[in-house]
Amino acid sequence: MTKRIAILGAGPSGLAQLRAFEAAGNAGAEVPDIVCYEKQSDLGGMWNYTWRTGLGAYGEPVHGSMYRYLWSNGPKECLEFADYSFEEHFGKPIASYPPRAVLRDYIMGRVEKSDLRRCIQFSTEVQWVEYSEETGKFSVTVRDLKADELSTEEFDYVIVATGHFSTPNAPYFEGLEQFPGRVLHAHDFRDACEFEGKDLLLIGSSYSAEDIGTQCHKYGAKSVTFSYRSAPMGYDWPSEFDEVPLLSHVDGRTAHFIDGTEREIDAIIMCTGYQHYFSFLHDDLTLRTWNRLYPENLYKGIFWIDNPKLMYLGMQDQYYTFNMFDAQAWYARDVIMGDIALPSTEEMTADSQKWVEHEETAKDPFAHIDFQAAYIRDLLGPTDYPEFDVEGMGELFKQWKRDKQADILGYRNKSYRSTMTGTVAPPHHTPWMEAMDDSLEAFLANESAPDESAPDVMGDAKTSAIKTDTAGADADDHSIEEERESA
Ligand code: FAD
Ligand code: NAP
Ligand code: MG
Repeated sequence: MTKRIAILGAGPSGLAQLRAFEAAGNAGAEVPDIVCYEKQSDLGGMWNYTWRTGLGAYGEPVHGSMYRYLWSNGPKECLEFADYSFEEHFGKPIASYPPRAVLRDYIMGRVEKSDLRRCIQFSTEVQWVEYSEETGKFSVTVRDLKADELSTEEFDYVIVATGHFSTPNAPYFEGLEQFPGRVLHAHDFRDACEFEGKDLLLIGSSYSAEDIGTQCHKYGAKSVTFSYRSAPMGYDWPSEFDEVPLLSHVDGRTAHFIDGTEREIDAIIMCTGYQHYFSFLHDDLTLRTWNRLYPENLYKGIFWIDNPKLMYLGMQDQYYTFNMFDAQAWYARDVIMGDIALPSTEEMTADSQKWVEHEETAKDPFAHIDFQAAYIRDLLGPTDYPEFDVEGMGELFKQWKRDKQADILGYRNKSYRSTMTGTVAPPHHTPWMEAMDDSLEAFLANESAPDESAPDVMGDAKTSAIKTDTAGADADDHSIEEERESA
């Protein structure tokens, strides 16, 4: 009998899994029966922008944590798919740091080339998953959000690809309930223009703090104060920025810090990270972890050791993203299809423990990059995912780190060489600090002088027409609203 597989989520990880099976099918293999459940009305996961916060149109928790004017915070050369380059998608070389809509277009582009959409049930929220020892199957209960109907189906394998940057970790600080301004978590941040002319306090010292802080500065915030728990980011910040120790409490508009200093602020944005949260999973199946490179109890960072017919994709903290999800998806596929055999439970536990201990000895960002590269390399070996220069990409990540250190507001103006095509990205036509329009059309406009150092591998492609789906870019909620109105 054909195996049945449920993929939960159609973001980059879930789509990688669909693509992996499609590739096997194209190569002549008999592909299992696959159903992908996605609670949003379109694919793309986190890369779909929504104006909504809190609950969605049907009462479901809003998944999106991305905001307007979000640009990639790493070079696109570090997240390129090995089987679908940026040049192939856009028909020309593009700059290294694209805005959200451009990356979304790229992710969707690979999928739209085939009819993978037919496997996806949109506007369908997974509500409960449990496993029966008797039948050896999972039952997956979902709600069709539009019809408001529950249904349950059985599967041999379940792949959890629901992401882990949606459920806020929001600590309490004394006095917050009396604070006269806005207090929000990064998950609910949508538009920096709201904070024009304001004195902002951002709690946290990681990517969200850095990016939301620089974003707000770019769009006119008066000052940005970062409050750190463990260590400051330590960039050479312009005078409008400051890094201070942890907030102790607020008293009216005054923020007090643990070193005894204080300052007046207008709004507080908690950039304090996210929780891995799986409300739909039975206790026996639930991954519990903090945001780390090698979550415990997952063999190869994928297989739930207690029951490896349950798999998790993309649950790691991420330097590498899209191509790491691909490496995981190809490996998971080969296990499901019987091309890779899983070892005993003891061996899986020992192997995963070895990686966990290795992670704990990796103390700085460069060591973390090397760790994640080694992890991906380990996955790539046995599968037929196209070979790519994982370690060379790691060197690009290190250069990215150095470029940020040198110029935190200017690093996005840099160009990097693709390890997939060998092309050096052309410079963007506008420095990031002056690029206020983050639309796909503005980004792809052919204003930049050709980069002489970039080999023109696509012939006259630099001036070719751009073939992309721009209509979809922010259409998600329009379609929901229209459907509801016509219902
Ligand atoms: P997601 O993209 O989160 O997709 C998960 C999918 O599962 C969603 O479509 C969601 O609707 C669906 N889902 C969740 N729960 C259910 C349910 N119960 N039922 C049905 N469907 C469900 N990465 C980069 O490489 N570069 C960047 O510049 C970058 N910027 C980022 C900025 C922000 C603010 C955040 C939060 C993340 C950023 N990331 C970035 C990381 C980003 O998470 C990954 O690029 C990628 O989106 C992860 O893919 P995923 O499929 O694992 O998860
Ligand atoms: P994160 O990397 O997990 O960092 C969480 C931060 O919150 C850390 O600085 C942590 O401090 C701090 N923190 C946690 N609990 C705290 C507490 N109780 N009090 C004070 N501080 C606390 O999460 P993130 O920064 O939200 O990033 C999540 C993901 O989004 C990343 O993958 C990132 O790349 C992505 N992202 C990308 C962009 C972009 O591309 N433009 C923008 C934003 C985010 P400690 O150091 O003390 O633990
Ligand atoms: Mg291989």
